Amino acid sequence: MEFQKLPPVKEQIMKCVRCGKCRSVCPVFEQIRNETAAPRGHVFMVGMLRDGIVEPKQEVYEKLGNCLLCETCSVNCPSGIDIHELNAAARSYIYDKNPSAGKELIFDTMWTRPGFLRTTTMLMGGVQKLGLQTLARNMGLTKILPGDMPKAEKIMTSVPTRSARKQIPKFNRAKGEKKYTVGYFLGCATDLLNPEIAKATVNILTHFGCDVIIPKDMKCCGMPHIANGKMDTARNLMAHNVKIFNSYNLDYIISDCASCSSALAHKNVEFLLGGLKIEDEAFKFSDKVMDLTTFLVEVLDIKLPDKNVTKKTRVTYHDPCHLANAQGIKDAPRELLRRIPEVELVEMPGANTCCGGSGTYSLTHYDLSMKILDKKMDRAMSTGAAKLATCCPSCTMQLKYGTVRSHWDCEVVHPVVLANRSLQQSLVKK
Ligand code: SF4
Ligand code: SF4
Repeated sequence: MEFQKLPPVKEQIMKCVRCGKCRSVCPVFEQIRNETAAPRGHVFMVGMLRDGIVEPKQEVYEKLGNCLLCETCSVNCPSGIDIHELNAAARSYIYDKNPSAGKELIFDTMWTRPGFLRTTTMLMGGVQKLGLQTLARNMGLTKILPGDMPKAEKIMTSVPTRSARKQIPKFNRAKGEKKYTVGYFLGCATDLLNPEIAKATVNILTHFGCDVIIPKDMKCCGMPHIANGKMDTARNLMAHNVKIFNSYNLDYIISDCASCSSALAHKNVEFLLGGLKIEDEAFKFSDKVMDLTTFLVEVLDIKLPDKNVTKKTRVTYHDPCHLANAQGIKDAPRELLRRIPEVELVEMPGANTCCGGSGTYSLTHYDLSMKILDKKMDRAMSTGAAKLATCCPSCTMQLKYGTVRSHWDCEVVHPVVLANRSLQQSLVKK
């Protein structure tokens, strides 16, 4: 698709009144203090690209690529400009003119084939266990990795030996009276790196009356592709997932990952597929998509068994940008935490500021990402919490690394895992 025709670039840019509100909230601008790193600067740059004043060169991509796509600017822009969408569309336009073999390998060959991605990730896990990663690091082999990867490989969490898919069947029957049939969009990071979240999700959903189907052939939600200038691949992935999920008779499509639910939501479908033939089918799909915590609190209205808990655990909550900014969901995860008898929810200052993880950002912009992370950790630690809850695997990975950097003995955990623990303890006691 031609850049000029993408979500009304011209109309969006013309709405900018240069007020600078976006600049004042941008976590990257706060660190870099340069207009080329500011959202307002990005809007101008996209305008110049569109008008051919600026060439679609790699240097321009690097400038736009400094952005986390956290959407803080977009939700604060008084003119309602989707600044992050302009940025993503421009990245894709520039990437198409400057393709890279490394990105093709990662984002087209690996990340579009779940089996291949699973095998590669499991091999990484094997390498970690054999200690070869440490050996490779000591020999300096990691220095040949691209971008900031040599520094960033420390962030990678250890890979579980069995993915969620290997542990959970495709069809999971509701316990007791059935209320809904839900499709579970099991994202790559939950599947491969956080299977305990997937197991908790399925346990809770089935316990509260849902048949849960995990379609075998689903693929990545496409969010990593959008962030890395691969919008055509993201479109193909979306079209594939729409077809797969629409072949089932589902009441809802649930995701426990903030990035997946935002990638599959109506707004992003419009951004990616608006005006294309598949649009109607895609909206049928996206209108069923719901974030897990919203579904548990607002649709199922779950109540966890009451207990006499003498000492509650202090838990603080970090808002993933893809949940709070992209979907406006802040209350549901907190409400779910409040419904867990063992939990005392304590707010941290700036809970909805970005942690600097943003998918692959911490791997490609390590130093900048760490500055943003350290600020987040100071705020989280000020609560004295014993657990840090969040609903995004990318934030989870980043925050776990933050606890290590800050020497903070704190578990980073998805609210559904805490809810499931509470439920399982009650069932055992019965
Ligand atoms: S907040 Fe919106 S209108 Fe104001 S400078 Fe930024 S993009 Fe332009
Ligand atoms: S999306 Fe986030 S990082 Fe990017 S320009 Fe907007 S506020 Fe800054």
